Amino acid sequence: MPPPGSARMAFMESRTLLRALPKVDRLLERDDLRALAEVHPRVLVADAVRETLDALREEIRAGGEPDVSEHAVAVRAAALAERKARRSLRRVINATGIVVHTNLGRSCLAREAVEAVAEVSGAYSTLEYDVEAGERGSRHAHVEELICRLTGAEAAMAVNNNAAAVLLSLAGLARGKRAIVSRGQLVEIGGSFRVPDVMRESGATMVEVGTTNKTHLRDYESAITPDTGLLLKVHTSNYRVVGFTQEVSLEELVELGARHGIPVMEDQGSGVLVDLREWGLPYEPTIGESVAAGADVVTCSGDKLLGGPQAGIIAGKWHVVQTLKKHPMARAVRLDKMTLAALEVTLRLYLDPERARREIPTLRMLSASAGEIRERAERLVDRIVESCGDSYAVGTAEDVSRAGGGALPMADIPTVVTAVVPARGSVSELEARLRCAEPPIVARISEDRLLIDPRTLLPGDEDAIVAALRAIAG
Ligand SMILES: *Cc1c(COP(=O)(O)O)cnc(C)c1O
Repeated sequence: MPPPGSARMAFMESRTLLRALPKVDRLLERDDLRALAEVHPRVLVADAVRETLDALREEIRAGGEPDVSEHAVAVRAAALAERKARRSLRRVINATGIVVHTNLGRSCLAREAVEAVAEVSGAYSTLEYDVEAGERGSRHAHVEELICRLTGAEAAMAVNNNAAAVLLSLAGLARGKRAIVSRGQLVEIGGSFRVPDVMRESGATMVEVGTTNKTHLRDYESAITPDTGLLLKVHTSNYRVVGFTQEVSLEELVELGARHGIPVMEDQGSGVLVDLREWGLPYEPTIGESVAAGADVVTCSGDKLLGGPQAGIIAGKWHVVQTLKKHPMARAVRLDKMTLAALEVTLRLYLDPERARREIPTLRMLSASAGEIRERAERLVDRIVESCGDSYAVGTAEDVSRAGGGALPMADIPTVVTAVVPARGSVSELEARLRCAEPPIVARISEDRLLIDPRTLLPGDEDAIVAALRAIAG
């Protein structure tokens, strides 16, 4: 039976609309879409046309009445083709004030590190070649001496990330044995790195001791058996137990390990190479301190507070690192030349800590003073007012920046933000439109204001923000 009355009318209308949709070939022959296929791969333009037609059919079947004229469809397909042709991984402007923002790529590399990546990736390199000897060299050589110099370790290597560094170290030291760890340190970091899971995958058997808030040296000691292969300490980088707490120091663990002939490992996490207190930041243990305390292996990330590329650093005793270098898993987690180039340059900058602070963006951002940030926030206010008139209500406000990346968890870093309220439309609409700008601008919303924290802006970002705000204001 045919649908009655108005339902029947709608049915007829949607059939008419469906039939009126232009054909794929006709669309692809239009001058505008042909011109687009000259600059972008033709397959992408063809995909965009097909997907646009599919989407229109869906809309019509759902009762919609979209414009199905050839011109309207072509415009829509062209916009989709442009989106498909755009690189997926591209830069964004981080206005959040979260310095090591994991979703936005953690650390930005120093200019010199970026140049080194470009140089070795666009040409042949000394990756595993010793030019002086004219023979095969080691890829570890590019960073090992530097890590040792900066941490006091006897030997070192770098792998894909800290998760890999922990996995390799556990597999190399404790596979088939028992590894003792405090219950207070069974942390999850960034979703997929969980100490118990990594432990299981490494082939070590985890032995938990103590309680969530308190673990004593005697807890470790009484858990030691003949098949104990490791004492593990994990730096709880992204949370802290406060109040009635007790943690065993690395020194005490080292002393206990020495008495029983058991190696001690610390997963330090954030990769601090200098005393951050010198720059007015809270205390965070350094890799050098863990090495000095006598840990057999210390691991950390390359792209958190260290400010380099994604990498995992393993610093420790000579014999332990040699074992790890030869471990079958080492090949699976080894670094590529681009990362090694960036890591080498980043580490070299640390040979002069003041230079590291000036040139490594993560350090520069973290150590920028509130006064310096205030000046930048005020200048941005002036520029927005100058360019956008009264399209926005703009001012500065005191706020906090964060180290992020699970580092310096308790540290609110005082900052001054530029707060923007649109004269028309909502703040969330403004936030969404800035995200769709080119480059995308990622900002925070708080109390119905859009907050721009100058701390995480790179040179030139202010220009892009002012231009985007002006374009949105219309
Ligand atoms: C961040 C972190 C990890 C994971 O490091 P990735 O470099 O992200 O793989 C592991 N352990 C600790 C303590 C961390 O802080």
